[in-house]
Formats: sequence, C-alpha cells, structure tokens
Amino acid sequence: MGTCELCRERPANKKNTHYLTDGIIRSCLNEDGSNAREKAMMFNISWNEDSIEAKFQRSTSTDAIARTYGREAKEEEIDEAKNVPFSVDYVFCSECEDIFTEIENKFIKDILPQLRGKDFTGRPEITLDDTFTVRKFFLLQVYRTAICDPDYQIDNALVEKLREIILGINNDIETLKSIPLNITYLNTVGADYEYTKNTVGVAVIENNKLILFNDFVIQVFDDIKNASFVDLWGINDRRDFKYFTNYCEERFRVKILDNKQRLQAWDNYHKERANKQVNFYRRTFAVSYIKQHHRPPAPGLVRTFIDAIINSDEFNNEPRYSTARFKKLQEKYLQVK
Ligand SMILES: [Zn+2]
Repeated sequence: MGTCELCRERPANKKNTHYLTDGIIRSCLNEDGSNAREKAMMFNISWNEDSIEAKFQRSTSTDAIARTYGREAKEEEIDEAKNVPFSVDYVFCSECEDIFTEIENKFIKDILPQLRGKDFTGRPEITLDDTFTVRKFFLLQVYRTAICDPDYQIDNALVEKLREIILGINNDIETLKSIPLNITYLNTVGADYEYTKNTVGVAVIENNKLILFNDFVIQVFDDIKNASFVDLWGINDRRDFKYFTNYCEERFRVKILDNKQRLQAWDNYHKERANKQVNFYRRTFAVSYIKQHHRPPAPGLVRTFIDAIINSDEFNNEPRYSTARFKKLQEKYLQVK
C-alpha cells in the first residue's frame, strides 16, 4: 500500500474513493441501464481520434448513430458501465476521505439546492455569494481527477496548489480565487431520467481542462493567461467566456444553459463524436485495405463495413464498439476484393 496522495503521511488505506462526487454523478449514471451503454463508452473515451480505444461509435450518417443510442443495452455493457464508477482504491487515506466528505457535504447542503430542481428558463446566469464553498467543491473535483484519471493532466504546480487548498494548509480565499475557474450549470428539468441525458467524462482541450460532471461543466486553467475560449458544443460562448471565467472575483458567476440549450449541447456533442468516430473507422479501414490490396477500397465497401459496426449482429459476442469487435469485422471486410 502506498502513501496517501493528499496528506503524504498515512498509508493510502481507503477503498472506493469517488474522485467525482457520487452524489452529483449518480443520477446521470445509475439507472435501469437504459443509458448505461453510452456511459460505458464514455468511460473509455479518448479525445485522440487516432486511438482505436475510442469507444464511440459511428455510422455513415450521424443520425444513424444517434439512433443506435436507443438500442437496448447488452448485459455486459451495463456491467461495464457499473464497473467504472469514477472511483479508485488505495490512493487516499480514510482521514483525507473525511476531508473530502466535509467539502462535498457543505456544497450539497448549501449550494446545490440553489441550482438543482429549479427551472432557469430565460435566466442565463446565477451569482453565488459563498465563493469559498463553491470553489473548494469544484477544485476538489479537479484535484482528485488530476490524481486519479490519466486522461486528465494538469500542471504540476496547480496540482500542488490544489493539494494545499484541499488539505487546508493554504486555503485562504485569495489563493482559491487565483485559480481561473469556469462553471456552467446545465439546467436539467423534469423527471430523474432527464439526468441520464447528461454525460460524465474528462478531457483536455488546448489549455482547457474540462470535466463533464452530469449537470455541471467544470473548466479550469493553470494560468489566467491561458484562459482562452474553446468551443464546447455550444456550452461556451466567445462573447461571455471571459465574463464567466471566475478569477479574483467578488461573487462567483455560474453560467446557465436552460433545459433546451442543455439538450442542444449534448446533441451537438454526440454528433461531433459521431463524425470523428466514423472518420476514424473509415481511415483505419482504408489504410489496412491499401496495405493488403494495393488500391483503395470501393466506397460502398467502406460504407458496408461501417454499417456492420453499428448495426449488424456479427461478432456480437464482443461489445459492439470494442476494439476486439472492430478488429474482427475489419479482418472480415478486408477479404472483400
Ligand atoms: Zn491522507
């Protein structure tokens, strides 16, 4: 057993530490499995489209992909989803876990009710007075994710600063406010099922360290000089990006997407992922085909191959969008002259 990452003193004896607060992400992930398949893919999302491990799927048209989300999830896909609950074992100690819990409970008690369960239609922002509680909670997500998720790399100096903040050895309000932090609230209106339409995952896009956190989007920067606009499926707007990037603020500004804008943003997101994935399949297949046949594949063959990935029952003993199934299908369609 190693040493706890936070205190760096005690043994890391704690199992099942959620590095994204369970009470926030649970409504997005845990339900009857109807949405679990997509979440399962999300867990292994690679933002490098050249990676075969990117588990998002696609078809010749993005609409077709969107439709496959409606397919019944298979047992193993649900299991896969349940097995990756954004938690880790033996990274932190029990005492430090208590520190996490305290920060989380305060936010859930004092701040969350100002956001969840409300209808913000027509209201583009909310200002929160308790910037300390708000920041500490979101910076906790950033810190733990940076420690626990290899796909989420942030500057070492920032990790150390966050560590001291969370540990409470250097957490005066000015220190907290010196970290550029942009929070969007995706107003989720309706039954609990509505939350399953949100997403959980991480990415680093240019200088923007991004956490998709169910009905929250967290964007953090290691330096205000690096806090520049990136397009996020309509979540960010060039015109107000600076305004909503909190830095040495008096009160904390949260950008709000209302329910309709939220659904539009996720739709944009899925379509972008879909396009990238189709292009990835297409390119990978073409390269292998040319290697074998010394000429490019017929366009119809490429379409058939991609359609097989998305819609066919072939090799369905493997999860649909797994690398293993992709390779088997490719092997088969490479034989077509
Ligand atoms: Zn510890």
